[in-house]
Amino acid sequence: MFPGAGLLMALLGVTVDLDEFCNTYKLRHFNGSPLCCFSCGADNSDAGPLRHTDCRPCAPWRATLITHEEFLHLFSGLHILWSTLTGLDLSIGNVIYDLMHNCCLGVLQLFNASVLIHVLQDGVRMHGTVEQRKDSLWVSLLACYNELDTPSGERIPHSKFSAVLNTGCSAEYADMHCKAAHARHLLFALNLLVCKRLDLNEGAFRSTRVCLAKLSRFYRICMFSDNYISEPYQTEAKECLDTFLLHQNLLNAHMRTASRPRLLYGIIIKSHILSHIGDNLKFYNPKQWWCYADEDFVGAIAKMGLKEAKGRFMVTISNAVASRYRLRLFLRYDMRRRKGAGLHVVDVSIELAAD
Ligand SMILES: [Zn+2]
Repeated sequence: MFPGAGLLMALLGVTVDLDEFCNTYKLRHFNGSPLCCFSCGADNSDAGPLRHTDCRPCAPWRATLITHEEFLHLFSGLHILWSTLTGLDLSIGNVIYDLMHNCCLGVLQLFNASVLIHVLQDGVRMHGTVEQRKDSLWVSLLACYNELDTPSGERIPHSKFSAVLNTGCSAEYADMHCKAAHARHLLFALNLLVCKRLDLNEGAFRSTRVCLAKLSRFYRICMFSDNYISEPYQTEAKECLDTFLLHQNLLNAHMRTASRPRLLYGIIIKSHILSHIGDNLKFYNPKQWWCYADEDFVGAIAKMGLKEAKGRFMVTISNAVASRYRLRLFLRYDMRRRKGAGLHVVDVSIELAAD
């Protein structure tokens, strides 16, 4: 906006989670019933031919995918709220869905919690009380974090670790309820824990290993690729997701039907959406509209407001915050630019091959 010159253009990109995305575009909601996916005719059940839990290559829902034209049509129209508030005809075409939200907060939360409980119950080979076994698992997890040089702020707190193990998995599927960054780094630590440190390779742990290795690899390909993933890595990343989903289904079925049934490795509709993400990797890298860092920045802005509020009249706070915000934004941009420049000199293929 240019005061005095009228409104020339407002260019706005808004990254949202799946819930907000479906609400904004009035799309079929992922918790809807019977249909639960706006990209295909999958239904919200674990039975029936179109069940969303079917992730096989021959799953019948794959024949019901909407066309590219139908997909684009979903996003046409005006944004009701923005248009009402501004009196302008603002398009909703620039609201973007953060796919990594789906991966980290949707799928990883349940998967990580299940791995932790599974390892404690079946994988910690030591005698002693449950508390001693938990302590042993915590020490092993810390050792994995240390080996991976995981920053302390990205490690799961002990309180969260205990809460998941204490909640158990008899009444409902285990869930981690942690920050996205915690979930992502925990995946790498659990991969090291199960596949190397504890070297669990018997029974159902064979599928757990595959899941951990494939999902870690998918993340690494996304992290070390640019906004568009090169073709060989597209194929590999898709294979990683497809294999992960198949083995997650095996684990879910195994746990439910075992002599001691446990609600582990829950399959949710966001797992189904992971299949769509895999199919669309040829178009974009899921990290392209990743907004976790910006979410952290929202907290930083609130702190700035509190700092500037001291000794000021309310009407002058916004100007002071805006000034500080501009400075921080520049520093943030500059840091990202330097970091980005550093990343570009790394040969992606070497980074990935070393995984
Ligand atoms: Zn679908």
